[in-house]
Amino acid sequence: MNVLVVGSGGREHALCWSLAASPLIGELYCAPGNGGIADVASVIDIDAMDFDALTGLCRAEAIDFVVVGPEAPLCAGLVDHLAGAGIKAFGPSARAAVLEGSKGFAKDFCARHGIPTPAYGRFDGPEPAKAFIRDRGAPIVVKADGLAAGKGVTVARDVATACKAVDQVFDGRFGAAGAELVVEECLAGEEVSFFALVDGSHVLALTSAQDHKAVGEGDTGPNTGGMGAYSPAPILTPDLTERVLAEIVRPTVAGMAAEGRPYAGVLFVGLMITARGPEVLEFNCRFGDPECQVLCRRLKSDLLAALVAATDGVLDKFDLRWRDDTALAVVMAANGYPGAYAKGGEIANLKLAGELPGITIFHAATQVQGGRVTANGGRVLAVTALGEDVQEARDRAYQAVDVIDWPGGFCRRDIGWRALERLGG
Ligand code: AMP
Repeated sequence: MNVLVVGSGGREHALCWSLAASPLIGELYCAPGNGGIADVASVIDIDAMDFDALTGLCRAEAIDFVVVGPEAPLCAGLVDHLAGAGIKAFGPSARAAVLEGSKGFAKDFCARHGIPTPAYGRFDGPEPAKAFIRDRGAPIVVKADGLAAGKGVTVARDVATACKAVDQVFDGRFGAAGAELVVEECLAGEEVSFFALVDGSHVLALTSAQDHKAVGEGDTGPNTGGMGAYSPAPILTPDLTERVLAEIVRPTVAGMAAEGRPYAGVLFVGLMITARGPEVLEFNCRFGDPECQVLCRRLKSDLLAALVAATDGVLDKFDLRWRDDTALAVVMAANGYPGAYAKGGEIANLKLAGELPGITIFHAATQVQGGRVTANGGRVLAVTALGEDVQEARDRAYQAVDVIDWPGGFCRRDIGWRALERLGG
C-alpha cells in the first residue's frame, strides 16, 4: 500500500516511523515533512493546505491511503477533497472536524448531549462577554472560537485579565478564529488526554497519555504546543477510563452520527479530572503532539492496519496491543519559544544520542543538509525513551538530551513529575 502522511511535525515523524514498519507498506511519502522524516519517508515539498497539489501527488504516485496529521487541513476539508477525487484518507470530514474547529460548536454539542463540560457562555461581541465575566467572577477562562494553534485560551485569575483577553480575541489577532469566543467556568483538577480511534460509529480506545503544556518547570509560564508527554498516564485507572468512554466518548460519537456529522479518525479529548468526575476541556480531531510520539513508541500492533480499519468502518473487528513499558518524550525547543526565537542553529550528536538504550528521536522542525542538522522552528525535537517505568524512561530521555549538543535550545527537566508523584517515585 502506498501511503502519504500530510504534515511536518514530530507527530508526523512518529506516524511515519510507525507506518514504515507496517508489513502492508509499499512506498511511504510525507508532505511537506522535515529533515528527520526524510530518514523514513520520501519527503515532498507540498504545503499541507495545498489540496490540489496533494491530490495531484496522490495521482502521480498511485497513493492508496492518506493520513492527515494536523487540524488545519482537516478542518478545511482535506479528507472531503481527497474523497471527492476517489482517494481514501484517514481523518474526519470538515463537518466532523468542527468539534475542534469551533469551541462554541463543541460546547453547544456537549450541552445538547448531556456530556460533562464546564458551564459557559458564547459571545460574538466584547460587551456581553465582559458582562458575563463580571457576573461570574474570576478565575474564569476565555477561549477564541476557532483554531489558534494553542494560543487562543486565557485562564484568567482576575476579572481585568479576562476582560483584556476578550479584547485581544476581538482585536483581530486570531483572524476568523476570533470572530466569536467562549467564556468558561475555570475547573480545578488534573488534566489528561484521552485518545480513541473512531470509524463513524465504533470506538477503539487507544492508551492514555499526559502532556506538559506550560513552558516552565512545575507547569508554570505560558502555554506551548507541548513540552513533553508520557504514556500510560497513571491517573487514568481502568474505572476512570470506563467512565470517560461511557459518559464522554461514546455519547460524542453517537451524537455526531445522529446530527449527520459521522466522526471517523482520531478523537482526542482534553479532560480535566475534577471532584465531579471527568469533564471535557476540548475536543481535538487529530493526534496530540507530543502525545502521538509516546503512543507510537508503545504500540505493538500495525498502525497502518488500524487506521485503514477506522477509515473502512470495521473497527469493531479490530484490537490493538501495547507495550507494558512507559514511553516518555522530552521536547527540545529553540531558546525564546513560545515567544520569538532564532532559526538555523546547528544541532550536533543526534546520532550518538539516538543510539542510547530505549531512545528514538523524532524531529519536529529541522533541516538536514549533508548530514548537518539545523533548527527550523520553535519545537524542534522530541527525544523519546522507553523504560520499565516512568523513572527509567525519564532517566534515559534526559541522558540522551544531555548528549545532544545544541546551544540554541532548551527543554524542561521535570517531564513526568506528576506521574512520579502519583506513583510515589
Ligand atoms: P483548550 O485548548 O481548550 O484545552 O485549553 C488549553 C489549556 O487551557 C488546557 O489544556 C488547560 O490547561 C487550560 N484550560 C482550558 N479550559 C480550562 C478550564 N475550563 N478550566 C481550567 N483550565 C482550563
